[in-house]
Amino acid sequence: MTELLDRFGRKHTYLRISVTDRCNLRCLYCMPEEGMVFMDQDKLLSYDHILEVASTAAKLGIRKFRITGGEPLVRPGLEELIAGLSALPGVDDISLTTNGLLLAPQAAKLKEAGLRRVNISLDTLDKARFKFIARRGNLDKVWEGIEAAAEAGLNPIKLNCVLLKGVNEDEIGRFLKLSMEQPLHIRFIEYMPIGHDDANWRDHYLPLSRVLEEATRLGYALEQDAGPKGSGPSENWRIAGGAGTFGLIHPISEHFCKNCNRLRLTADGHIKPCLYWVDELNVRPALGSPDEMEQLFRKAMDIKPENHEMAALLAGDKQSHVPTERRMSQIGG
Ligand code: SAM
Ligand code: SF4
Repeated sequence: MTELLDRFGRKHTYLRISVTDRCNLRCLYCMPEEGMVFMDQDKLLSYDHILEVASTAAKLGIRKFRITGGEPLVRPGLEELIAGLSALPGVDDISLTTNGLLLAPQAAKLKEAGLRRVNISLDTLDKARFKFIARRGNLDKVWEGIEAAAEAGLNPIKLNCVLLKGVNEDEIGRFLKLSMEQPLHIRFIEYMPIGHDDANWRDHYLPLSRVLEEATRLGYALEQDAGPKGSGPSENWRIAGGAGTFGLIHPISEHFCKNCNRLRLTADGHIKPCLYWVDELNVRPALGSPDEMEQLFRKAMDIKPENHEMAALLAGDKQSHVPTERRMSQIGG
């Protein structure tokens, strides 16, 4: 079988798999505090069905899987899925994005099943602010998760920090210091209007040029860095002599679509060629038929747009396609 090439010559080697849209937090940039309607459990693809989709993906050249959600660790038995993905021929990287709250008791068994590395979301180092941003949960539990991940040998450990104007921008310096003192990789991320072009986004969107300005203000000597494994679209830096690195993921102020190599599978079984637009392909009718499943991946390549147009949205310009109504928790990030 030939590889997955889209109309713009981009080769796709990476599939992000969401296993649930449910979550034990309600981060203010991801979902509303109240009234989020979750999928019925019978709408979720079973692990066997996910593995069936992933098996065709691997035959078509997908080498890297990331498990995400909602919060993936609220779905029981994730180690089964990880073990199944690890056993697929050609797969060389399995990672997880989690809010970390439930990670401590599971880190070792996930590693044993084949998980290589984790991204843990951490938008603040302040306990009270954690409650404000995540609206639930507790920062100490996240740190327990980070420590357990390190003990289990998950490596690298990246911390995803969505920067929000007027909320956590004053913590850039503390995060930079953390990247200097510990072997942790901070990934600053721009707040994206996925499924919600609203006042919350317009009020809190912050371009990541702020991070480099702050590093300069603090007098840090910066070195460009290749970044840890799986750095994808991140622009990576190390403070000279630092134990870890920091990276900037700036889809709005500087989009990186020309190197996009990723597809997404939602928890209810839809392939999304692009995070931002509405287009998606239902895998259920293709289950049981590897040929039809392959055709679905090929179709995803045919309909994948050249780029998202989040910058146009910010500028108030007309867009060329229709944005998705799914929130980030219903796609997986
Ligand atoms: N619950 C897990 C977590 O929080 O890590 C995994 C799912 S979450 C949707 C995946 C990533 O998307 C997280 O790092 C989160 O911070 C990020 N995210 C969610 N909403 C976002 C938004 N509107 N803009 C940018 N990043 C967002
Ligand atoms: Fe949950 Fe992750 Fe969304 Fe926060 S970012 S509400 S932890 S899915």
